[in-house]
Amino acid sequence: MKAEAATDAVRLQGVEYRWNARDPFCLSIGEFEVSRGERLLLLGASGSGKSTLLSLLTGIALAQAGSLEVLGQRLDELSGSGRDRFRAEHFGIIFQMFNLLPYGVVIDNVLLPLSFAPERRARATAAGGTESEARRLLSALGLPADIGQQTAATLSVGQQQRVATARALIGSPEIIVADEPTSALDDDRQQDFLDLLFGQIDATKATLIMVSHDRRLARHFTRVVQLTDILATSKRESDKR
Ligand code: ADP
Ligand code: MG
Repeated sequence: MKAEAATDAVRLQGVEYRWNARDPFCLSIGEFEVSRGERLLLLGASGSGKSTLLSLLTGIALAQAGSLEVLGQRLDELSGSGRDRFRAEHFGIIFQMFNLLPYGVVIDNVLLPLSFAPERRARATAAGGTESEARRLLSALGLPADIGQQTAATLSVGQQQRVATARALIGSPEIIVADEPTSALDDDRQQDFLDLLFGQIDATKATLIMVSHDRRLARHFTRVVQLTDILATSKRESDKR
């Protein structure tokens, strides 16, 4: 059982989180695991706590109760800066609003996570050099060859999304987390984008955790979970114990 646990990408037990003691919102999850290599889609309505859950998984926020392990590491056993390093090394994150540095050029945006992640930097270097790896990813994601020196703020939404994806993929982190990354795209572009993303994830065998309110995405994933199905329903859960 212990050895099996280490094969999990993510493992949550009895996790509870409030952003603020006065806020009635509390994310409470009984048990939830994601195996390595899974492509998981987590569905939930707007405001149900999907982004909050991703903040917990990536150690941006720290649960107030319960245990949360990523790749066998309990996040609450790391210091704040330790969690920052752990996040940079093991997670590629595609944020809902992409969070590119608007005045930075595309190449610098893609290379950014490598500054905080020596293992990712070493993998990108071994793949032929960090800059050429960034260019390879940009081109694999369907961006024009000369986009590298363009300022991020001048890009279309679809292009920004692909740059954010290249930034998440560079150096092959074990887990890719994506927060509604297709919500700004029309259906054709969504399909196109998912094909490109999955193509890259196939190559690195990364675990993918995507959250969305859009159940039409379901057919692309190996597992689909409703957030409401993993929330601890306090009465029933406590009766079982
Ligand atoms: P979803 O991503 O499913 O739309 P969220 O996780 O963003 O849901 O929101 C769940 C609750 O957490 C909401 O009440 C929201 O206001 C609150 N919340 C989300 N992010 C923050 C934050 N950074 N600071 C404070 N409250 C937050
Ligand atoms: Mg959200």
